[in-house]
Amino acid sequence: MTTFLYENPVFLEHKVPEGHPERPDRLRALNLALDHPNFAELKRVEASKGSEDLVLLAHPEQHLRSIVREIPEEDINQLEADTYASPQSLVAALTAIGGAAAAVDAVFAGDADNAFVAARPPGHHAEKNKAMGFCFFNTVAIAARHAQKAHGAERIAIVDWDVHHGNGTQDIFWDDPSVLFCSTHQMPLYPGTGAKDETGIKHNIVNAPLSPNSGSEHFRDAFRTRILNALDDFRPDFVLISAGFDAHHRDPLAQINLMAEDFDWATGRLMEIAGRSAGNRVVSLLEGGYDLQGLAESAGMHILRLMRG
Ligand SMILES: [Zn+2]
Repeated sequence: MTTFLYENPVFLEHKVPEGHPERPDRLRALNLALDHPNFAELKRVEASKGSEDLVLLAHPEQHLRSIVREIPEEDINQLEADTYASPQSLVAALTAIGGAAAAVDAVFAGDADNAFVAARPPGHHAEKNKAMGFCFFNTVAIAARHAQKAHGAERIAIVDWDVHHGNGTQDIFWDDPSVLFCSTHQMPLYPGTGAKDETGIKHNIVNAPLSPNSGSEHFRDAFRTRILNALDDFRPDFVLISAGFDAHHRDPLAQINLMAEDFDWATGRLMEIAGRSAGNRVVSLLEGGYDLQGLAESAGMHILRLMRG
């Protein structure tokens, strides 16, 4: 497989207060892991800043303007409970979107089979009208809309294995059967949504909540029996992954006990789905993952699986 990885030094310039889990060191830890010779074939691409028009694919103008207004000229500004902005945060968030859109373009052009976007801030908690949970704009939703608009994708699957429910992505696609949104996550946990009976108006939402202290077997069982079945029936022509790695057993924000190998396994299963109906097209976006070692190992195995097929 040809795998592109999108990155940009500006992702380190989105600053948060001391002690905040969603910190620049996360990307530094991943970069160290990618120095290993295993990743020699990975094609690393500098992400470009995305346009404000891309933001408007998933958010009303009013949301974009409210974020722009909140960007401080210096220091750090608190947007809501746990979401902060620094002077470069808007450029970082727009570059995350630009990287995601470029990744979509690359897989639809056939330049890459798949791609990983190593960006921050993350996106899956951002609702149509609300920044929350460290997220400003919903990058994965924007990537899906871009695939529809620019490349004619008709059946997009978004699989979110971040340990927190992707409430923002669910909000944006709640009544849109062109997108199948599937999520595994710990419940109860922030943000509180993601119950099994939240299925969307068109039954295009599949939530597979896991109890605290679930491990690999529970995760794989939920993935197999709920998510893979739904994906097989849906036959996506494009697969997006909201790849958070905070279900790793070392992660401080949750109590799910996955091993790095579980992310390798899940990646392999989604690549099989993409091979059957989506011409192998997979784009994966970094969401959470707050233990540096757990993140580096898990994301490393995920990217290696994307490369090896
Ligand atoms: Zn998370």
